[in-house]
Order: sequence, then structure tokens, then C-alpha cells
Amino acid sequence: MTNSQHLLLHQCPVCGSNQRRLLFPVHQSFVYSCQPCGLRYLDPCMSQKDMSDFYESPEQLFKSHAFYQTYYDYGDLTKPSKTMRDYQVFLSCLDEMSSSQKKTRTFFEVGYGNGLFLAAAQKKGWQVAGIDSSHRNRSVARHRFGLELQQGDFMSCQSSLTNGYDVVVAMDVLEHFYQPMAFLEKIYSYLSAEGFFLIAVPNDLSFLRLLSESLFRMSFGLIRGGIEKTYLMEHTVYYTRQTLSALLQKCGFIIKKQFFSSTDLERYHFTAIEKLAASGILNIGKLIHLENRLIMIGQKPSEKIIVL
Ligand SMILES: [Zn+2]
Repeated sequence: MTNSQHLLLHQCPVCGSNQRRLLFPVHQSFVYSCQPCGLRYLDPCMSQKDMSDFYESPEQLFKSHAFYQTYYDYGDLTKPSKTMRDYQVFLSCLDEMSSSQKKTRTFFEVGYGNGLFLAAAQKKGWQVAGIDSSHRNRSVARHRFGLELQQGDFMSCQSSLTNGYDVVVAMDVLEHFYQPMAFLEKIYSYLSAEGFFLIAVPNDLSFLRLLSESLFRMSFGLIRGGIEKTYLMEHTVYYTRQTLSALLQKCGFIIKKQFFSSTDLERYHFTAIEKLAASGILNIGKLIHLENRLIMIGQKPSEKIIVL
């Protein structure tokens, strides 16, 4: 990880309460659970600037987690994979929900990675655009899929469409923000009235996390491999179905659909034994409905509703 100073929060990033329970130390931080709202978060956490620098440097990324080595270049529009099957499900849901008489339907992705999801959306007829903080990702998306996308900081940009986008997607992005409400308000401002969003985050109430935490506690802190792979320094906030839906409603969104999925292990660089163990854990998670990914699709209302 970087040598920069990490940021101290002292309070819950969603409800602002300082009533919290210290759960355990992880990496150079601590995991807390907010008593009033139940949200789990890291304190201290990485600043947004450190986060951008971290993702800009593949060397830094791979040094921190070897399993990222194949992550960013993974995926092909024509090759079947779990990632592509998940993307097709997401696109079908968005397509059904947002069907309208409009000739062009606009689609924006925050944190597009290598551009695979936007390329799949474009193939389905959407007019796509997106922003990513990484120069490298912009270049990969251009060379692999011919996409001309924006590089920069989403939080300091303005939508180029006056009436907003029909769909805004942010997969594996929200958990990085220590001010998630500001991020969701930005998404709100990018959407057209009655436009749809899709948010995907790691599910903190997964079998993987429950098992990792149980092993850590039962071994009196000696077995920490599991919690160190589920709680990462670059992920500040850890959501469950309850905490994420409460946050989205607080920001004025209407939740239309929520479902779970699990990680596509082919996307990560694991040894054969690690892959076998991870696949066993994820399969049990699926059987008992505690999968490790959480997806929510919702809508911006025609008039803003604020839940106090
Ligand atoms: Zn809270």
C-alpha cells in the first residue's frame, strides 16, 4: 500500500453516528460496525486521491493483491464466461425496465474498467459513455473495444447531457467512497427523470465473510487470510442488502429489483488450490442464499423524495 497518511473518519460514513463497535484490525486499519445503522466500515481509510493513485498503477495494485493480475484485462464479448452471463442479465433487466419510444437510449458507466460492460451495452443498441479515473483503463477500452470514453474524476465532472442519461451504472465503485451519499447524489444528477441505475457491490452478509470472520475469531486472530481478502484497504464501506437499500432510499431513489451473484473466479489470478477452495465456499454461499455480490437496480423518481 502507499506511504500516504490514511484518513480518519471517527464516524459512520452514512448516518454520521460516532456510536460504533470495534470488530477487528485489518491491514493498516480497523473494521467498525455502526450501532444505530449497522453499517460496517474501515477507519482509517484511503483518501480518494490515494485511491486514484493506487488504481492508476498496476504495479502497486498487483503488489498489494496478486489476485488482481488478470482482473483488468479479463473478458471477451464472444467468449462465454460468468461475467458475460451476469452482464446479459443486468442488461436485460435494464432493457425491460427502461423500454420507451425513444430512438436513442443513453447509458453511462462510472468506473468502466476495461470497457467490457459498455461494449456489451453498445452491442444491445445503447448509446454509451463513461468515466474512469485510470488513464490505463481508458486506453484499454479504446484498443479492445473501440470505445472513446472519458478519463477523470467523476465527482468533479458535469453530465454532458442536459436531460441526463436513461441509465447510469456503477459496478464495484460505491464501496470505495467514504462519502457514499455525495457519490449517489452525483449519480442522481447524471440521471434523467425516471432514469434507472444499477449498483453492484460486494455483499458483506455473504457466506465467505461469515466463514472468514468465524475462522478469525475461533483461532483468536491467528487465521486472518480470509478477513484480509474480504476487507481490503481500498474498500472503505461494506454493504448488506439492508444497509444499501436504506442508503439508496435516503438519497431519494426507488428500488426496483435486488439480487445476488457470486464472483467470477476466472477473473482472478489464483493457484489451483485457492481456486478450488474459493469455488467450494462460493457454491455453499449460493446454496444458502448468502452469495458475495449484491446488485440493486432502481429509479430516480420524477420528483425528488427525501427520506429523513
Ligand atoms: Zn451508521
